[in-house]
Amino acid sequence: RRLKILVCGGGNGAHCMAGVAGSHEEIDVKILSLFEDEAERWSNILKSNFLTVYEPLVNGGHMEISTKPKIVTNDPEKAVEGVDIVFMVVPAFAHSQYLTAIAPFIKPNTLIVGMPGQAGFEFQCINILGQKSSQLAIASFESLPWACRVDDFGKHVQLIGFKDVLGMSVVTGKECNIPFPIVDTIQDIFGKKPAINLVQNYIAINLMAKSIIHPPLMYGTWSNWDGKPVREKPLFYQGVDTKQANFLSKVSDECILTAKKIEKLRNNLKMKDVIHIFDWYKTYYHDEISDNSSLMMAMRTNAAYDGLLHPMKAVEGGFVPDFNYRYTREDIPFGLVVMKGIAELAGVATPTMDEIITWAQNKLGKEYLVNGKLIGKDLKEARAPQSFGFTTLDDLASELSPDSSR
Ligand code: NAD
Repeated sequence: RRLKILVCGGGNGAHCMAGVAGSHEEIDVKILSLFEDEAERWSNILKSNFLTVYEPLVNGGHMEISTKPKIVTNDPEKAVEGVDIVFMVVPAFAHSQYLTAIAPFIKPNTLIVGMPGQAGFEFQCINILGQKSSQLAIASFESLPWACRVDDFGKHVQLIGFKDVLGMSVVTGKECNIPFPIVDTIQDIFGKKPAINLVQNYIAINLMAKSIIHPPLMYGTWSNWDGKPVREKPLFYQGVDTKQANFLSKVSDECILTAKKIEKLRNNLKMKDVIHIFDWYKTYYHDEISDNSSLMMAMRTNAAYDGLLHPMKAVEGGFVPDFNYRYTREDIPFGLVVMKGIAELAGVATPTMDEIITWAQNKLGKEYLVNGKLIGKDLKEARAPQSFGFTTLDDLASELSPDSSR
């Protein structure tokens, strides 16, 4: 039987996913966009155009796939009708809007995939879907399978680079029976790369979320900035220096310490997939990195990052950093704050995360952390376990029992 999938979103990743999945003849692709007039615009464009995924090849050539999604709509009922898998391919701050919209219409035995889930995805799904979540499965990827950028809305997306491997966890509700093999089915949609690495439990995938990368780089670059516009937008990854790499390395160390402590406290929770970010680069971007002598060099020479710039706003005299871009707006409340929350429950100190969160929340005009504790007035808008009332490690382990993972 044909596989029916829904892609939620209208940005880079959603274009890429719709194109990659649509290249399979036996898959029907629908798209739900709730953002402004995106659905209507995209729908009109598709009347006379295909959606093309353009992939530059290492040897200088390129590949193209052109497809037509079945529908692009802003109607959640129409979108979710009859679908087997819902892929959430939006920045994490949009997850609640999509989950709330589809919640009344989603049928038992549907798989919801956070692509990426970003930290705290499972807590939010269960919070919004309530009772229904026991009849659903929730998968979460640690990052997006590709680096990609839309260069012509609705028509053309550049698939800049693949990850070689990508971690995913699955939590299956107690009354849910997904009628297809989850990993194999998603792997077929992706093709050969990235190879899916099934991670044993969702706490590990939360500590593996790649939202840890941007904030230390933003902090390392801009924490001592004099406020004057700069002439050019600096390279984001290829411009990484030792200071930024060091902050990132320390945040990663704090995630590993947290994972090790949880494994010690709860023997049934296996955390071996929570590896250091430098090891992650070496494994996950093996083919793309030309110099892996240090974390800094691995980032600077990762072809998947070619030419990506700091998020900046044009002002008189040059550019200033955009502290509201998803590198902070998404990766603090749906990234570091969640990891900090898990560390707090495990009793692990996180001085580097604290330093970065304190700086970033100030730039965002939010308060999550107060004197090193997650008690800020805006904590409810974030996705730490504490934002949903989980206050002990047992709460975490029992709410989404790893025994129900596959
Ligand atoms: P994007 O920036 O392209 O997403 C923009 C889309 O999000 C919009 O088109 C709209 O559909 C939706 N959106 C934006 N603002 C919204 C709002 N206020 N309310 C509701 N919807 C809104 O994002 P992307 O590049 O597709 O990334 C998706 C996820 O993948 C993010 O979590 C991102 O961090 C992650 N990621 C992306 C890349 C990449 O190369 N693009 C790489 C790694 C990880």
